[in-house]
Amino acid sequence: MTNAADRRQALLAEYENIKSRQLNLDLTRGKPATAQLDLSNALDGILNGDYRCADGTDARNYGGGLGIPEARQFAADYLETHPSQVMVGGNSSLQIMYQYVANAMLNGLQGAESAWQNEAKGSERIKFLCPAPGYDRHFSICEALNIEMIPVRMNEQGPNMDEVEQLLSQDPLIKGIWCVPKYANPNGVVYADEVVDRFARLGTIAGANFRIMWDNAYAEHHLSDEPPQLANLLELSDKYGTLDNAIVIGSTSKITFAGAGMAFVASSEANIKQFAEYLGISTIGPDKVNQLRHVRFLKDMTGLRALMQEHRKILQPKFELVLKHLREGLSGKTINNKALGSWTEPAGGYFILFDTQPGLAGRVVELCAAAGVKLTPAGSTWPYKKDPANTNIRLAPSFPSLKEIDEAMQVFVLCVELATLEASESAGN
Ligand code: PMP
Repeated sequence: MTNAADRRQALLAEYENIKSRQLNLDLTRGKPATAQLDLSNALDGILNGDYRCADGTDARNYGGGLGIPEARQFAADYLETHPSQVMVGGNSSLQIMYQYVANAMLNGLQGAESAWQNEAKGSERIKFLCPAPGYDRHFSICEALNIEMIPVRMNEQGPNMDEVEQLLSQDPLIKGIWCVPKYANPNGVVYADEVVDRFARLGTIAGANFRIMWDNAYAEHHLSDEPPQLANLLELSDKYGTLDNAIVIGSTSKITFAGAGMAFVASSEANIKQFAEYLGISTIGPDKVNQLRHVRFLKDMTGLRALMQEHRKILQPKFELVLKHLREGLSGKTINNKALGSWTEPAGGYFILFDTQPGLAGRVVELCAAAGVKLTPAGSTWPYKKDPANTNIRLAPSFPSLKEIDEAMQVFVLCVELATLEASESAGN
């Protein structure tokens, strides 16, 4: 037997041994851990009978489609803009994004005749650019609304802007682009200043009915002492006269309670007013009680940043443990002179992206699943769940305990090597 075959036998024995332990571990979704949620338990009861908002309205009653004034101020500080350009909604930024795109598609952003669906004739479809790998739930919104997705390469500075600009100049049916500009889900990239500047000018190529869906979900979710700065899309867009093209979204889902946080959106005043009117058809106002308790609890950006430091204390050891396993298990190892994989070391956010050798991500996920370790399905970070190179695996270490991560990562590292050896043998190497 060759050395590779010996090694594979040894790994298989270890793998079978792990299987017999019937593990049940999960590294799939970017959920905060219970200890993180506990940091915000003071939200419960904080109003203590005082429901008066800054402008004297009663948070318990109907109304306030744009959000209560103090929550708009808070969200404006978070999104680095003016309160008049902000709407604060319910608990989910994903819901805001879905509703915004549905509104544009069906209703029109500048009157009914501007509805995106009117522009697609016959068998044509409206299209979105999807920097990939990206966030699977953005892609689900496109699928649900029959919007065709065009993947765009991500590099370390952000999406490939030459490609973005070229596609936009060729195809007027492209009406939007999804972005997670800071600590991107899943690859941790922070868009470079030059990239943000080019984004702010896209409206001049794509026209008034085009929208940049700038999902700044991880704006304050740092894992380093000197967080990188993201350039301000709204400010730059204002400068270039393209503010209507920029839709900036955020939420406190990974700051307070993931399922009961506060979500917000910013753009031009006209856009925000149009959107609030659209939402007004389906609701007589958002949960203002939750908005009020969020502002009383977080207070301001200083309060929020202090809380994020507490999150970091819980999250950082988990990220470090994943990275330790990857480094110790895989760094420097090669099969056929090729590294077994590469991975990101993000400065913030919720994910580590692992790349296998081409074609092996699906097999690694399958081997892990059979050994009791659930990973996000291979391909799910790509439009239509098709990773063309079949290399991306998203690791989400926030929810499991350190002990669980330790066990899961042992299995992961083993499965990466096993899958790579298998492939090398079947290729006759
Ligand atoms: N955007 C991104 C990029 C995310 O990763 C997530 C959560 N995984 C969300 C939005 C969901 O946010 P919310 O809870 O506010 O709907």
